[in-house]
Amino acid sequence: MNNCDRSKVLIIGGGPTGLGTALMLAQRGWPEITVIEKRPSADYYEPDKSFSYQIDGRGQKLTDWLELTPKLANLSVASTDFYLTLIQKNGKRKTIKLPIADSNRKTAYWLPRATFVGLLYQEIIEKWQDSIEVLFNSECLEIKEYSDHLTVIIQSNNQENLTFTPTLLVGCDGLNSIVRQTLHQWEKSQSNIFTMQEFPSASSGLKYKVLTIPSQFPLSEEPEDLSQSTMAYAIRSTFKGRLKAISLGLLPLKNNEQPRTANIITYPEHQIWQLETPEEVANFLKKAFPQIPLEKIIDAEEIARFTASKGGKFPIPQYCSGLYQIFGKPQDNQGTAVILLGDAVHCFPPDIGQGVNSALEDVYLLQQILGETQDNLAEALPRYQKLRQPDIKALIRLVQISYPWQYNQNILQKRLWSINFFLRFILNRLLPFVFSPHSFILIQNHELSYSEILNKSNKTTQALAILGGLVLLILLSQILMYTI
Ligand SMILES: Cc1cc2nc3c(=O)[nH]c(=O)nc-3n(C[C@H](O)[C@H](O)[C@H](O)COP(=O)(O)OP(=O)(O)OC[C@H]3O[C@@H](n4cnc5c(N)ncnc54)[C@H](O)[C@@H]3O)c2cc1C
Repeated sequence: MNNCDRSKVLIIGGGPTGLGTALMLAQRGWPEITVIEKRPSADYYEPDKSFSYQIDGRGQKLTDWLELTPKLANLSVASTDFYLTLIQKNGKRKTIKLPIADSNRKTAYWLPRATFVGLLYQEIIEKWQDSIEVLFNSECLEIKEYSDHLTVIIQSNNQENLTFTPTLLVGCDGLNSIVRQTLHQWEKSQSNIFTMQEFPSASSGLKYKVLTIPSQFPLSEEPEDLSQSTMAYAIRSTFKGRLKAISLGLLPLKNNEQPRTANIITYPEHQIWQLETPEEVANFLKKAFPQIPLEKIIDAEEIARFTASKGGKFPIPQYCSGLYQIFGKPQDNQGTAVILLGDAVHCFPPDIGQGVNSALEDVYLLQQILGETQDNLAEALPRYQKLRQPDIKALIRLVQISYPWQYNQNILQKRLWSINFFLRFILNRLLPFVFSPHSFILIQNHELSYSEILNKSNKTTQALAILGGLVLLILLSQILMYTI
């Protein structure tokens, strides 16, 4: 295959999936790759999108292949060094090391989204400037269909419209993907393969906002009593009740010169979301967290920004079954192949930390299949869809069942979840060939596919049902024996 056949790749979206795909294709020898990103820069700081990623063994399949994992490790806090300090409402503190429940687990790395995207972009600048161009402040406005190819209209940073006719168009533009929506419109609702199918979850719809705070903030009035940036914190409020109690959640951060973020995640009808002025918010937080010197941690400007911010809502778990479409003959350089990756085709709340990892695994799998098909898109894309579809479907089911109750929405449901979790844990220790650990643990094993994990989880559920039935029968027979 000559260079001409592999030219003109247009990637919409310069998040983790888009930049990861650009690096993957460049390393495979593809030239002329353009990434379109509407944000102003790779490490652009948006307070309400400044969550941390945990790049686990699944995500590291791609960073290993790109030889980026050592750099990733350098910028991150390793899961083996993950300590959590719980600050109770009475000010008592308890630090625990999170147990590594799965011995097959590869060390995972915690870092802010902006740092991870910045790492991928830095790699492009250092190694791949000849083949990859990233256009920031640029937005994909429209995709047009011609007899055998597609044309993509981009509004550039100086408001000019640019037109691309790519051989390969990659939709990495997240949940509201214009690439997927356009494929859906063209399909004229025939099979609905590009429609997102939604599945209910106990955590979707929860509202979140983020407070930006200094990385080493004071924990008390004692001058030396500062937080550590590499430590995770959970700070409980003095308030009680479903609509008043809140918690500040802080994930570990390696760079103590960067600001940290404290997440507030709770029901849409919670009192904190009804507060309208910065004064009301400051007052609420001061009363909620008297055990920490809040005025020294959060300034008036940040309170005003927090009050004005709309925040975000956890999405409903969703996926679409169509992952590609081919127009014309892209393999003969007369057509456009379109592929969708990452959040553009599977999106869900962050309960199991698989958003970025599943997206990076998409890119890694595509890389493997391109290798097997000598980069022939007409062969590679159908093969990719056939292999990835069952895993995406299984992933969405895993999101629904694995740990949606972790945000204290319902104490009874959380307790039932804990009983189920420990029952599976103990039975797996006793009879590992019959019972698997809970899917929340299995997900940490990157060597298992999502379909394999769901299969193991379902088999254990069946075994538990049989065991429960047997216990019930024995109890009933005992009762009958004593009553007859
Ligand atoms: C509150 C919250 C917490 C999360 N926490 C975690 C977590 O702890 N762990 C985890 O693994 N995942 C988490 N996720 C999910 C994770 O953020 C996503 O799965 C991941 O970012 C997917 O990457 P992506 O590149 O596919 O999409 P995105 O990150 O959404 O990136 C898409 C990019 O495309 C750009 N774009 C969109 N449309 C256009 C257009 N028309 N033109 C140009 N550019 C465009 C956007 O600006 C964006 O940069 C969380 C998500 C949320 C909402």
